Amino acid sequence: MSATHRNPQNARDIRHGRFDFCPFKLAHMNKNPLPPDEARALILDHVASVGLETLSHAEVLGRVLARDVVSPLDLPPFANSAMDGFALVAADLKSAPQTLRLIEIIGAGDVAVCSVERGTCIKIMTGAPLPNGADCVVMREETRESNGQIQFEETARVGQNVRPIGDDVRLGEVVLEEGTLIGAATHAMLASLGCAQVEVFRRPRVAIVVTGKELVGVDAPLLPGQIRDSNSWALRALVSSCAGEVVAVHRTGDEATEVEAVLRAASQSADCIVTSGGVSAGDFDPVRDVLLEAAQVHFWKVAMKPGKPLMFASLEGKPVFALPGNPASVMVGFEEFVRPALFQMAGRRAWKRVEVEARLQSDLRSPLDRTEFVRAHLRRGKDGFLALATGDQNSGRLSSMVRANALLEIPSDTTFLPSGSPVRAKLLDNAAFEEGAF
Ligand code: AMP
Ligand code: MG
Repeated sequence: MSATHRNPQNARDIRHGRFDFCPFKLAHMNKNPLPPDEARALILDHVASVGLETLSHAEVLGRVLARDVVSPLDLPPFANSAMDGFALVAADLKSAPQTLRLIEIIGAGDVAVCSVERGTCIKIMTGAPLPNGADCVVMREETRESNGQIQFEETARVGQNVRPIGDDVRLGEVVLEEGTLIGAATHAMLASLGCAQVEVFRRPRVAIVVTGKELVGVDAPLLPGQIRDSNSWALRALVSSCAGEVVAVHRTGDEATEVEAVLRAASQSADCIVTSGGVSAGDFDPVRDVLLEAAQVHFWKVAMKPGKPLMFASLEGKPVFALPGNPASVMVGFEEFVRPALFQMAGRRAWKRVEVEARLQSDLRSPLDRTEFVRAHLRRGKDGFLALATGDQNSGRLSSMVRANALLEIPSDTTFLPSGSPVRAKLLDNAAFEEGAF
């Protein structure tokens, strides 16, 4: 675009003296904030999985399976006892009480030398293979032992207390599906199956860029006008909780040249970039300016509260999630848009938060034409969940995020909900636990 096409009214343009602003594009984006669901769909259309790698079993906890896992064996691999007790022939106890002769004792890891014949039994521990001839196990607690003779009081059923071969997993069965997050149980299952090498999705590499010349580090004294950067810490934690790998954290001032250089460098080292601040309508919002100039901007502004001036762009082919700087906007914006995107990049299938219906415990006012994500504390009441907003919803307040264990989604056409109204509550990570007496 030639200089004559520039908008001479645009103070930023003149100040930076280098941006080809397109006033029409800006005006269009300003007027049409996207509903959050549309914004998310657009984001998910623009991010792809970051590829696969094969790792040893010990390294894959917290990763995502890149292939269905077909069982190479039956689990358990042999019929075995589910109890400490006596292996015997059930028909022998038809007319219990009955006494049987003890012929052998076996533990887990042993294989019986003898076969169980009529009138005999083998003492067996949990996990030991069911001896030949036996068809059931009677719990030790239900017997009496004296002089190599075992007395049984009750009748027994064929198969009682026996874990048959393949009871847990069958040979050839798809046990674990591609896209499964490898947590404790999945990691344990992979071990049971003997999967010493596991194909997993690579972790998306994320660069974090926080902007604002007012920002200083956690250990710096505060000079007038300064605040400590908290967003980079929230973002580090959030990225890690999505199985993303933070490869760089940058803090910049508000100079477009500096921001551009940092963003370009980040796009080389990372699979995606998450920024905070500098994307609103202020005079010193360099992320907005740089992305409008140098990147492909997919949208700017989402019809939501908090976090409206969020921008999503591609810079040198890498997705850039430009979140506004207020702490609640960063965290809610991450939750609604960046986390689903990182999950998709990481190959994870399940990305929706568990939602429950809750009843409001106080009146709630919400802006028209914007979906509001209300930071709330959810607890179990007598007749279901109760939700209480964690105070003022000003997007600059981090304290109301600290106390929240859920986000209430208030639709854009709702401006007032009286106490007692039903609301949708999305559970945040810390919602799985509540305080209780030890
Ligand atoms: P901005 O979106 O850059 O206009 O910033 C909005 C508000 O968020 C301002 O009050 C900033 O000082 C604040 N803010 C921006 N970045 C951070 C950060 N990294 N940590 C804490 N607060 C921030
Ligand atoms: Mg700023």
